[in-house]
Amino acid sequence: MSKNKITDIKGRMVFDSRGKPTIEAEVIVNNKISGIAIAPSGASKGYNEAIEKKDNKKHFYGEGVTENIKLINSIIRKALIGQEIENQKKIDNILINLDGTENKSFLGGNTTIAVSMAVLRCASKSNKKPLWSYLNPKNKKLPIPEIQIIGGGKHAKGSIPIQDFMVIPNGAPDFYTALEWVYRIYKIAGDKLFKDGKLLGVADEGGYWPNFRDIEETLTFLSKCIEEAGLEFFKEVSISLDIAANNLKKEKGYILFKNNKPYSKKQFKKKLLQIINNYPIISIEDPFDELDLDEYKEFKSEAPSYLQIVGDDLVVTNTKLIKMANNNDAINTVLIKPNQIGTISETIKAINLSKKLKLFTIISARSGETEDSIISDLSVGWGIKQLKVGSMSRSERLSKWNQCLRIGEKLENNYVMHQPPSIWKSL
Ligand code: PEP
Ligand code: MG
Repeated sequence: MSKNKITDIKGRMVFDSRGKPTIEAEVIVNNKISGIAIAPSGASKGYNEAIEKKDNKKHFYGEGVTENIKLINSIIRKALIGQEIENQKKIDNILINLDGTENKSFLGGNTTIAVSMAVLRCASKSNKKPLWSYLNPKNKKLPIPEIQIIGGGKHAKGSIPIQDFMVIPNGAPDFYTALEWVYRIYKIAGDKLFKDGKLLGVADEGGYWPNFRDIEETLTFLSKCIEEAGLEFFKEVSISLDIAANNLKKEKGYILFKNNKPYSKKQFKKKLLQIINNYPIISIEDPFDELDLDEYKEFKSEAPSYLQIVGDDLVVTNTKLIKMANNNDAINTVLIKPNQIGTISETIKAINLSKKLKLFTIISARSGETEDSIISDLSVGWGIKQLKVGSMSRSERLSKWNQCLRIGEKLENNYVMHQPPSIWKSL
């Protein structure tokens, strides 16, 4: 029996990186130890994500979280006071039962994840351990970073239709070197875009927002930046895409650029395979709308064996959907986002199931983020091989890479990074 009992819980409104209201939860143990966590927020969401509850009233143009805060300070507070802080599963179950819906629409997934993460943080503080080592002190490796260089889609008002053009330093000897390689690419990309008069700013996750009008132009540009940084495709650094195809699907097919003829499902699949064959791409996320499972399956059977095919909107960190995607042979990798499902315990279930099904996992932040860097601790503590948190600009992104560096220093093993997933061994 633990002596560490929850004595108070508070909710408050803070702002996320898009300047929208979000929820901060503070959990207090034994009237003295406090753990704080902030709910992130997605822009391109899966159809089955836990509901992000907002006030939908006039203030903050509908984005307020007054109701969520009231729920934390009333029924959630009452239900959790007296609980042992280490009993994450029991606490999360109380939240799930209080909510009582399939998709957390009563309390809001944003409300439950803020409380659930604050409980975890408070438990680690109560036990005087850094969060990553409280989760599992034996996990001593840093994740392979997946870092955005160019942002598009819903994160850049649809400028380039594909959402994330990222790089993966898959051949880096350690995490520190991985960041140094990506830093070079990011700097070169920024300087080149500025010089060519093509730089419009940075998108929601810190990647550049260029005025390219073509996917191939963007990929050729990114490949050049990798080469100019003196890095070798496949062996050292490769490209990763998040198509976020839910946002491209229209009645008649997939539309990349406005006023252009839509691609049929088959044509779109062909186009993606062409791109993969022409560029050093080793990972692709949400290549099709989540309802197009047949295309997923065909694509997987036709794609090169080294290609990581990642389900994000397709599976939304939900065990039922992970099973469904696996039964349909749609993906080989699951993107894990705690706020898609709404509690820490359910996130762990999704990770464990993925492992059991021999699917790789990547843990990911959201496009709306904050100074909270809990995702970095989760990635190390849970031993997840890859981490996706955006780019190398904007403090809400750097707070995550910086936390990895802090953890790396404590690990005292020269920033040892996970080995790449087995499908990349042949690269
Ligand atoms: C993503 O799609 O992987 C992502 C991080 O964006 P969002 O948070 O908008 O879903
Ligand atoms: Mg995604």
